[in-house]
Amino acid sequence: MNSSILGESISTIFPDELADVIHETLEKQTGDINESTLELYIKGDYPRWVKCYIYLSFDGATIITRDITAKKQVEENIKEKHEKLVLLAEAANHLIFKNEPKEILDSLFEELSDYLDLDVYFNYIIDHQENKLRLLNYQGIPENTAKEIEWLDYGEAVCGCVARDRERIMAENINISEDPRVQLVSGFGIKAYVCHPLISYGKLIGTLSFGSSKRSSFSNEELDSVFTICNQVAITLERYFLISELKKKRQEAEKANKAKSDFLLMVSHELRTPLNSILGYTQILEDNNQETLSEYQMDKVKKILKSSRHLLRVINEILDLIKIEEQTIQLSLQRVKINTMIQECLQIVQTELSQKNITVKVDLDSRDFQVHVNRERMNQVIINLLTNAIKYSLEDGEITIRLGLVNDYDIKISVIDDGIGIPTEEQQRIFEPFYRIPNVDYNVEGMGLGLTIVKNYIEQMKGIVKVESILNKGSKFSIILPIYPND
Ligand code: ADP
Repeated sequence: MNSSILGESISTIFPDELADVIHETLEKQTGDINESTLELYIKGDYPRWVKCYIYLSFDGATIITRDITAKKQVEENIKEKHEKLVLLAEAANHLIFKNEPKEILDSLFEELSDYLDLDVYFNYIIDHQENKLRLLNYQGIPENTAKEIEWLDYGEAVCGCVARDRERIMAENINISEDPRVQLVSGFGIKAYVCHPLISYGKLIGTLSFGSSKRSSFSNEELDSVFTICNQVAITLERYFLISELKKKRQEAEKANKAKSDFLLMVSHELRTPLNSILGYTQILEDNNQETLSEYQMDKVKKILKSSRHLLRVINEILDLIKIEEQTIQLSLQRVKINTMIQECLQIVQTELSQKNITVKVDLDSRDFQVHVNRERMNQVIINLLTNAIKYSLEDGEITIRLGLVNDYDIKISVIDDGIGIPTEEQQRIFEPFYRIPNVDYNVEGMGLGLTIVKNYIEQMKGIVKVESILNKGSKFSIILPIYPND
């Protein structure tokens, strides 16, 4: 210790604030407590933080002081950084978990209010049709005032200038400012005001501004945080507007699609009724034993029957597709003996088979398994596959229908033909509605709906459809279905 201060009083050695506290501490210290520490901020010409260690002894006290200003600054920095991180994390939470822009901005504002002593926020969004800015969200001003400032031109007031120049404006001491741009906010008692352009991926979508009547300025650190948050808000708002636009477009498309389906349903029903009577009367003519038709007449009657049946199939397929698309079909399932059903379906396509002189090989497991399916739709599925096999086979071809076990739980029904085959790259597309493989060599009737319907029905019956094919060699369509256990 410097000898010149020996014997001096505490108040002479230490600055006033420190001396007072040391005195107080010494007075408080009793015999039991003989050492203490304290941290103190000393103002004056050379402001600093000091830490004092005071040790009492029987004949006086030992006081050690240490300058801890640097340590305190570091702590302060860490605290500020931490607060900023918490703020940014909270902001990110609001952006992720809130859905509507108003919810997002209101909750963000709450968060920022504590940090920046805010009273108002305004969020203007560009209205491209009007070529103006429109106040979409705000807080801190009455509704009628908001109505008055609902629309801003580019270059009008602070927000209009920020939108025009795409640059942040920071206004301090607004209450004494002469700047005409800040007159509007000055009217709300705002003293410090910051307005950011909201730019998402280079595209300006609006502005976001915050104002405080308690502060006359914001620090750079605070403005940095606001800047980061505004950038995140811009991306979130842009995403929200895009999603809203997509939803709107989807609703419009769904409405248009529904109108198209309703129209098709109506037309199909209207066509089916007269067509059924054409079919009925033509069948009477064909079956009439009393008045035998001439060969010529019979030939024409058969042609009418063929075309009418084709037309009816087309109409029914369209109706099925509409119901599938509208998801209005709820298939009721029954236990069905699959061997028996296959035999029945073969009977139905017998005429077409004979017309092309196609040989059928039936390779069925003798155990006539049961499956849990909708009888009518399962029939339709097998007939569709058989009809395709016939349609896309050449004259004198061969079709095999096979039924066997895949494993202990599933059976596989395969319809195999030696027809024109399907190129590998087309094998998945043929299940899409209205898709037909462009083929100039074979002019086969069809609309490209049969397989869409097959796939949909089989999937509804908990099964799978597969195709294997080699071009010009033939195709194999298989259906795998769970076995329904016998009682
Ligand atoms: P459609 O036969 O009415 O055109 P589908 O949906 O039943 O409609 O079939 C879609 C397309 O798949 C057909 O246009 C045809 O190109 C192809 N296809 C279906 N089955 C076969 C098959 N067994 N052999 C060759 N091509 C086939």
